[in-house]
Formats: sequence, C-alpha cells, structure tokens
Amino acid sequence: MAFAAIKKDRENWRVTPNLLDYERICAAFSWQETERQLEGLPGKRGLNIAHEAIDRHANGPLRDHLALRWLGKQGEARDFSYGDLYRLTNQFANVLRTLGVGKGHRVFALAGRIPELYIAALGTLKNGSVFCPLFSAFGPEPIQQRLTIAEGKVLVTTDLLYGRRKISELRSALPHLEHVLVIGDPDDPSPPGTHNFRKLMAEASDRFEIPPTDPEDMALIHFTSGTTGRPKGAVHVHKAVIAHHITGTYALDFHPDDIFWCTADPGWVTGTSYGIISPMTHGISSIIDEADFDAERWYRLIQEQRVTVWYTAPTAVRMLMKAGTGIIRKYDLSSLRFISSVGEPLNPEAVVWGTEAFGLPIHDNWWQTETGGIMIANYRAMPIRPGSMGKPLPGIEAAIVHPHKDGTVDVLTEAGVQGELALRPGWPSMFRGYLHEEERYRKCFAAGWYLTGDLARKDADGYFWFVGRADDVIKSAGHLIGPFEVESALMEHPAVAEAGVIGKPDPLIGEAVKAFVSLKRGCEPSETLRKELLGHARSRLGPAVAPREIDFRDSVPKTRSGKIMRRLLKARELGLPEGDISTLEND
Ligand code: AMP
Repeated sequence: MAFAAIKKDRENWRVTPNLLDYERICAAFSWQETERQLEGLPGKRGLNIAHEAIDRHANGPLRDHLALRWLGKQGEARDFSYGDLYRLTNQFANVLRTLGVGKGHRVFALAGRIPELYIAALGTLKNGSVFCPLFSAFGPEPIQQRLTIAEGKVLVTTDLLYGRRKISELRSALPHLEHVLVIGDPDDPSPPGTHNFRKLMAEASDRFEIPPTDPEDMALIHFTSGTTGRPKGAVHVHKAVIAHHITGTYALDFHPDDIFWCTADPGWVTGTSYGIISPMTHGISSIIDEADFDAERWYRLIQEQRVTVWYTAPTAVRMLMKAGTGIIRKYDLSSLRFISSVGEPLNPEAVVWGTEAFGLPIHDNWWQTETGGIMIANYRAMPIRPGSMGKPLPGIEAAIVHPHKDGTVDVLTEAGVQGELALRPGWPSMFRGYLHEEERYRKCFAAGWYLTGDLARKDADGYFWFVGRADDVIKSAGHLIGPFEVESALMEHPAVAEAGVIGKPDPLIGEAVKAFVSLKRGCEPSETLRKELLGHARSRLGPAVAPREIDFRDSVPKTRSGKIMRRLLKARELGLPEGDISTLEND
C-alpha cells in the first residue's frame, strides 16, 4: 500500500527548523565553514571531542546548565551539569594517566546506561585514549573477541557484569588487558586483580589539561559485523565531532532549550555519536534512562522530563504501536516537537502512526557504524514520503551504483532503479579503517565511492528508499549480527557438524536469528539437544546475538567452494524461489 506524503504546515512552527531551505543550504555548505562552529583546543592545540562536548561549555555560560539527567531503574535520578561533567571526566582522565594509560591506548566499557559509562567515555577522549563501547548484553565470547582485536588495555565494567560475563576467566586469554575497573560500592572489596572505579575516582584530581590532539587522532572504535570473518573494529577520529555537531543541527534539529532523549545504548554507535557527543556539542540537556523498554515508563518519562526531541529505533516504535494508542492518551506528550528513528527500515505505517499518536510523524534517517554520523534523513521542514529514508545531509553526496568486479562502478541515475547505496568519501566522521584489516577496508571502496553494503533506490525527487542488505548480515532489534559469529559459536558444541544462520523476518524486531544445524555422526536431533544448543549459544554470545530458533537438517547447503549458502536457507525457510543454485555442492 502506498502512503501519501506527509506535508509540513509551515505556519505553525513552535521553533523555526534549522534546515528550512534544503537546496540552498546544501548548495552553500562547506565542511571548513562548519568546523568554525566548534572551538578547537585552546592555544591551537588541535581538536578533541571531549573539549567540544564538555570543557567548552563548562568554561562558559553553560557551566551550570543541565547536561545529563540520569534516571535509574528504581526511580532514582541524578543530574549532571556541564561543570559537573567537566570535573568528573577530568578525574577519570587522571585515573587513566595514573594507571599509565595514554594516547592511543584502548579503553573498553561494558556497562548498562549508567553515569559512569558516560564519564568514562568522555574522560577517555580527554586523555587521548581510544574509547571502545561494548553491549552489556554481549556474552563472554563477543567480549573476548573484541578486546583481543583492539588490544584493550583497560576495561571498565560493573561488579554485576564482571561476575555474569565471567571476566575473570577471560583474562588469561587477554594479555593486553592490564586494568579492570569495577564499578561497585567504594567500601566493598573489588574482585581480586581489579581496581575499584569509585575509589580511584575519589582519589583523582579534578584538574586536567587535555593534551594536544590532532584531528586525525584515533578516538573511538566501534565494532560491527560482516558476513564472514571476525567482527570489524571501525576506527573513528576526533575530527568526527564536526559531523556529529552539524548532523545534530540539521537531522535532529537541536535548539538551545531542547531536552533530548536518545534511547540507543552507548554499546552501539548511535548511543555514542548521538547519545553522548552530538547533544553535548550543542550544549543541550539529555536524559538517560537506565531501564529497559516499557511503553508506560517511556511515555511517563517524556511527560515528566518535558522531552522535546526524541531519537529512537524502529523496533521500539513497533513495540509502542503494539502497546496501542490508548495509553498515550493518559499522558501529556505536548513537549515533543521532533521524533526521529534509525537503525532498521521504519515501516511506512509507523510514520503515519506517529502522526496519529503524537501529532508528529516519525522522521526516519539512515547511517551506519562506518559513517559515524547521520547521512540521509527526513528533515523537520521537508515533506515526508513514508517508507523513505529521506535525502542526503548537506555535505554528503549519495548515489545508487552498480559496482563491477574489475573495480569500476556505474552510477545509476535513472529514478527508481535499484543498486548499491554509495557515498562520496570525505566527510569528517567517515571511518578511517577497520583495525588490522586493511584489505577489508580497501574492499569498501571503488572508483571514488564508499560502498555501503545496502541496496536502495532513489526516486525522481531525490528521496532514497532502503531495499535490503547486499550481504547476509542480520539486523535484529537494531543490532547488526554477523551470521559467521553465530555459526562459529554453535560449531563449538560437540554435537554440531555444520551450522548456517539467517535472519528470519519478524514483525517486531525486524529479523530474528535462526540457525540450521547438522549434527555429527552418532548424534540424534531431539528437543533436549535443541534446548541445549539454544542455551549453549546464549551463554557464549549473550541474548542479543544468540539464535531464537534452531532447526536440525541432514546437511547445510554449501557452494562448491565450501561457502554456506545462507540465501538458499533463507529462500527455503520463506518459501521463496531458490534463485541461482548452480554453485550448490551438496544437499
Ligand atoms: P549499524 O552499523 O549497526 O548501525 O547498522 C547499519 C545498517 O543498519 C545499515 O547499513 C542498514 O542496513 C541498517 N539501517 C540503518 N538505518 C536504517 C534505516 N533508516 N533504514 C533501513 N536500514 C537502516
């Protein structure tokens, strides 16, 4: 079903949108000009994300302005002004310095949405070290793998996760991991071989001078998954802050009095670029909710905190839709003036539902770990075509292309033609590499384009429409999951001979991870074994990554060169045409 475009009533803006005239602003845009909106380190000592996010405001009129309001699971609340964050992040930078952690060293965080995570992230950046967030829902295996790849020197975690994720058992396999900082009660003894985070913080000075920072210095590593191989550590640099800032202006329409709520976990790039950095470079107030999704809680929180700009994800929107509009009527959500969503396709129904439920459409936008910031968006002042991701940000050139094996690329200019979504490199938050994987990085580029791995179309008016992934990567509740990681974990079980993993369409979470498993000789399929395999995968990978369903098969289809034909597994699962199976070896 086609949905009518949602027009914007230009007469009734409560605050004037930042991007009123898309064509004019795009034509006049320059990254150099944009950089001038930031301050740079005093004394021309470079560009540091944490200075732009905190120190700049803490040393100016926004010192006492609310930066973060943390809302705990049990109803607690803690406020942090820019001045508070200045001191706390200085303290954390000093903690690192005292431990001998310096420029370029990787500091990992494994924690839920708690204030210490935000303090550690920004303190790490101040110190010139590299911040690497991990999902708190990860099991021991993904944690160990990521710490290994990035040679993590420090891990900041909570006492609960330290025990649950069996960190002490992982340590012998992590020779680079020198310091584990555990967030717990300062008076409780920390586990053997770890430091007490709060005790170290209490002992550290709150004065710190950010060392000179080259805009190209490594700042963040975000892990993402491909179809094959290990997870990829996408490297981002301090200069990315220019893009974090300006996309906050144009795509999220930040204004000085905003109360912003980004529901994403900082374990994902959205939770860092927009859950931490972008709102702070704008000096606005953000709220952080520690609790998991709960429709009533979310609406109550918007009402009580007077949230104005809300950035969420399609899975959450679908869960809100499921909870119904009835409960919305119990709350006063009139503070909201802009709602946006990212991470997976946003159903056109959801866009329209937003208009009915909140009196505001939900603005879809598109980007990925590698791009570091929003690339394509529906803007506040621009009509929405429900189902479309919108148009490229000012400064971003996007196209639909057809890459050839010889490295050439056809740019498909005809409207409505499907191809791979490509971006012209050069924006500041563009990833600078996959850590230790030069070849994989190189393969992302062809003929002057960055190939995103997504299939899309562009219509005659320049709106982009998402079609699907060009590879077998799975998007489940916003998490990008590499099938290979899941298959490898399953194959560690003594009964498993082969495993093939697919994303099965799911009305709520987009795709659910489903595994097909063939067993070793002498092992018989049974309900008990299925449960055992599900439990095995869950304990290794964590609930966010593990399969929800497992089917037994005599064999898993492979190509003659031994590659698992996930596409075929998927086609069969969904009853779709099998396509070209000329390379199929067994079956
Ligand atoms: P990640 O790197 O985990 O943020 O995942 C990026 C991928 O998520 C993209 O390459 C897309 O496949 C998907 N994605 C992100 N935003 C959207 C969107 N608005 N519509 C459809 N897919 C999206």
